[in-house]
Amino acid sequence: MKAIAVHPGRPNSMHLREVPKPDLRDVPGGNGVLVKVLRVGVDGTDREINEAKYGQAPPGHDYLIIGHENLGRVADVGGDVRPSLRPGTLVVASVRRPGGSVYDRIGLQDLTTDDVYFERGINLMHGFLTEFYVEDAAYLVPLPPSLEHVGVLLEPLSVAEKGINQAYEIQRRLKVWQPRCAAVLGAGTIGLLATLALRLRGVDVVCYSRGEPPYLNSILVEQLGATYVSSQQASQREAADEHGPFDLMFEATGSSALVFEAAEVLAKNGVLVLSGVTGGDERIEVNADRINQGFVLGNKVMVGTVNASRHDFVSGVDDLIGAQARYPGWLSQLLTTTVDGLERWREIIPHLERNSGIKVHVNVAK
Ligand code: BGC
Ligand code: ZN
Repeated sequence: MKAIAVHPGRPNSMHLREVPKPDLRDVPGGNGVLVKVLRVGVDGTDREINEAKYGQAPPGHDYLIIGHENLGRVADVGGDVRPSLRPGTLVVASVRRPGGSVYDRIGLQDLTTDDVYFERGINLMHGFLTEFYVEDAAYLVPLPPSLEHVGVLLEPLSVAEKGINQAYEIQRRLKVWQPRCAAVLGAGTIGLLATLALRLRGVDVVCYSRGEPPYLNSILVEQLGATYVSSQQASQREAADEHGPFDLMFEATGSSALVFEAAEVLAKNGVLVLSGVTGGDERIEVNADRINQGFVLGNKVMVGTVNASRHDFVSGVDDLIGAQARYPGWLSQLLTTTVDGLERWREIIPHLERNSGIKVHVNVAK
């Protein structure tokens, strides 16, 4: 079968190759599920893997099949697989697999303290930009048939869900926390999905991003009843004075400088969630005393978040269903840019580099 792969460590090595079709028995003990891949989204992580800034091949292989934002349909199951994964079911596989830390051992490998982590399509494990994969049933999340068109958004949504779920978990310290207003920094896929998840929780949202409105991303923000503010028109401070205070702030721009401005404007008792993986080495001057004093006197929290647990995928499914009910047609507007078939792999990187649409995705099955 065909797969899109790279040679990790070698820049611009993306290629189409023939790989062996996996077998149910690759997973020991009757828990294997053979999944036919329908659609796979691509993002900045895939771009960085192709640039050889990130990613490792599985042991014994000189290539890595890429693709981690997946949607597929169960084709066959081992004898011990639960009935909710019967053939025909739509499924999304989570990305990270357990290592050895205590968190991994309780199913929270997204919080691993190991130095090495195992992520399908990213690090040490093949991904989903191929025709079929086999996975342990434990790592598959079933979706209702109504999500066939938009289910490929579940993995990026799970990243936003984790950040928000962690924020609520942390804020249980406050006993009566009721976030009124949130700021989402960034209006890319993760920022838009975080805005959605917060709106579905009844929170007012200001989405703060670079682009000057109106453009598709700002229109999508407003369709959710949220407010779009361009950084070309207002500072975070001005946005907070006009719309805040921000009880929750979610950083999803990938620009670390914005984090310190956010730390300054975050409300008392507020929580600032950081999700941007910044690979560079930018240095800036910050108002250290003011930020520190604000955190101390205001009992504020700043937390980083990566990947997602099974719970975050499951709350993501609920939110995809909620989005279809409350904002019909909204999710499919995110799927702006289609690559039609694995054979057209050469279109992937130019689409990601142009950065003009929102979600670039590959239709693997026609
Ligand atoms: C993926 C996450 C992953 C992270 C770090 C992101 O693009 O969506 O699942 O944990 O990259 O590798
Ligand atoms: Zn990703």
